[in-house]
Amino acid sequence: MAWFKRDKPKIDVAQPEEERTVNTSGIFIKCPDCENPLYKRELIESQQVCTHCGHHFRYSAIERLETLFDDGRYERLDDEVTSSDPLGFVDTKPYKDRIEAAKAASGLPEAIVSGSGRVSGHLVYAAAMDMSFIGGSMGSAVGEKITRQIERALENKGAVVIFSASGGARMQEGTLSLMQMGKISAALSMLDKAGLPFISVLTDPTTGGVTASFAMLGDVIIAEPKALIGFAGPRVIEQTIRQKLPKGFQRSEFLLEHGMVDMVVDRREMRETIIRMLDFMMNDRKAA
Ligand SMILES: [Zn+2]
Repeated sequence: MAWFKRDKPKIDVAQPEEERTVNTSGIFIKCPDCENPLYKRELIESQQVCTHCGHHFRYSAIERLETLFDDGRYERLDDEVTSSDPLGFVDTKPYKDRIEAAKAASGLPEAIVSGSGRVSGHLVYAAAMDMSFIGGSMGSAVGEKITRQIERALENKGAVVIFSASGGARMQEGTLSLMQMGKISAALSMLDKAGLPFISVLTDPTTGGVTASFAMLGDVIIAEPKALIGFAGPRVIEQTIRQKLPKGFQRSEFLLEHGMVDMVVDRREMRETIIRMLDFMMNDRKAA
């Protein structure tokens, strides 16, 4: 059997990376949909949307707020509201360590960023979730931050705009995460009674407890193209109902067709669309 055994070390044909190829990793990105190369700078200008096929790349919470508010100016709110570890939860690693790692990796204090400012003159309390922080999961801090924005809108007669991007409730906080669904929904019902608008923007992906609560309670529900929107994942559903799911199931366009969302809007037209909605719903409240 010695024939098959390699005694000598393999011939090393690998050359240093920089000698074989020109390193373009910092300049180009390949669109996963149409496979066209895109300049990174071009992508920043197009709000991370492929200029060839319209594929929507992930967008950060900060970018969302900057592109929503007039001149990109807004006041950051509640950065000090962060998750503690109420259950002392440990899975493959302690939840405390997970939070610290997420803070370092994302540069954010939590999975959601809150801000207030003007959108075409309208007073808006906005919040944007960020997938880079523990999968955009909703723990008690995320729930509290959203609730505070709704309460501020109530107090100051503003509108609420929330960009969802979430894997759902944050498991490491157990029931305290699930509680947020009820808490936010209750606050939103007060906003509704006060006749103030809530615009919910669903981005890829919006799932679990976020879909099952505030994301689907918008006066207007806008989805970005081809975003995954659902409660449970398709595999779980197929196993449960023992049926093959239709093509495009749980994507924005399918949900629009079935009446679950009001419109599918390209990110590059998002701000203008939201302004149109606000002009319509806040017409007697426009700031001087
Ligand atoms: Zn593309």
